[in-house]
Amino acid sequence: MNLEQILRLVDETTQTVISEEAPRIDQEAQWPEQSMRAMQHNGLAGLVVPREVGGMGQGLYALARTCESIGRVSASTGLCFGMHCVGAAVIAAKATPKQQKDFLEPIAAGQHLTTLALSEPGTGAHFYFPQTQLLVKPDEHYLIRGSKTFVTNGSKADSYVVSTMGVDPDATMHEFSCVVVENDRDGLEWGPDWKGLGMRGNSSRSLTLNDVRVPAHNLLGAHGDQLWYVFQVVAPYFLTAMAGTYLGIAQAAFDNVRQHLMERTHRHSGMSLAQLSLLQHRLGTLWATIERTRRLIYHATEQGDAGDPAAVLPILSAKAEVAHCAVNVVNEAMTLAGGIAYRDNSRLDVLLRDARAAHVMAPTTDLLYTWLGRALLDQPILDS
Ligand SMILES: Cc1cc2nc3c(=O)[nH]c(=O)nc-3n(C[C@H](O)[C@H](O)[C@H](O)COP(=O)(O)OP(=O)(O)OC[C@H]3O[C@@H](n4cnc5c(N)ncnc54)[C@H](O)[C@@H]3O)c2cc1C
Repeated sequence: MNLEQILRLVDETTQTVISEEAPRIDQEAQWPEQSMRAMQHNGLAGLVVPREVGGMGQGLYALARTCESIGRVSASTGLCFGMHCVGAAVIAAKATPKQQKDFLEPIAAGQHLTTLALSEPGTGAHFYFPQTQLLVKPDEHYLIRGSKTFVTNGSKADSYVVSTMGVDPDATMHEFSCVVVENDRDGLEWGPDWKGLGMRGNSSRSLTLNDVRVPAHNLLGAHGDQLWYVFQVVAPYFLTAMAGTYLGIAQAAFDNVRQHLMERTHRHSGMSLAQLSLLQHRLGTLWATIERTRRLIYHATEQGDAGDPAAVLPILSAKAEVAHCAVNVVNEAMTLAGGIAYRDNSRLDVLLRDARAAHVMAPTTDLLYTWLGRALLDQPILDS
């Protein structure tokens, strides 16, 4: 399948199963089971998995477009699917033949969902400073001991890409490791069901790893190359999945309010809101905000797919800019739509709640702009 065919398939899935399930997953805070299964059934779970192991071999641009399409109807589903793809990309980056067989082939075949468990209660937005311990055992196994928080797809995925402190006892804070932990390992203890203000279908649960025993061959990459993972794989894929999803939110708010302005007519004047010049101007501003953000995201991801090292800054900017775009566009749309948008469970209500997560999901907006500034001033990007 080429990219055009893939995106058509994504849109078809979005317009059918995902749209149908979307209201329920928000209202009942349910993980989007049917939507995720439909993506798997349609072969889309292998979106970023290399073709050699049965995947679709796509990269950042396709991920952005896919999450945008899904995010337009269900932001929770956009993030759940996006985090699966990020996990798959991290596994694929330096997969051994065994990891290809154990994880990537089943992912491509629609039989395995994965996700990323990086954030920890102790280090919050600084996801690259894990404190979870990886204890080496003499029998080719590790024991993992620690706590994770906000694990999207938590308890629903078949495996978790878990970050830990480096294997070497002398490893610095930056030298963390990533290990794939299958969901049926003993010692995984899930926190309560996720009840978010928004992103209510995410199942972003906390996880305690009580000396979870995993085979050494589940370690991703070599010891000490994790900074490479952060900037080459985790950050680009994570930021892209989020950028696409939040762009979808902004577009959905725009579509909703445009429709409202066309349909709402005042009896006293006989004029529709669409005929009022102030509202025309404000809608035009929203369109321009979304369009410039979309172009940044598309351009940055295409640059990333082309392997251009200069793509790092545009990709960092894309997630920071889309956070402002989504929050501001939904906020403005609420004003333009008037009191009717203020009803409980209106479409804009859901979008407003979902959009708010954009600024706080790591790397947060503040940290992204700080990283950009540091890079531009030739300073080390991460805190020391
Ligand atoms: C819906 C949702 C889904 C998520 N899904 C996942 C997931 O799948 N996997 C995962 O690993 N994580 C996930 N997360 C976690 C997320 O990425 C963040 O790690 C988490 O939200 C950080 O929360 P915190 O309150 O601990 O942040 P804190 O670290 O306490 O930060 C609070 C605020 O302080 C600011 N701040 C912190 N340090 C600095 C600094 N040095 N300089 C300036 N400002 C600073 C931050 O920018 C933020 O605005 C998810 C979060 C949410 C809300």
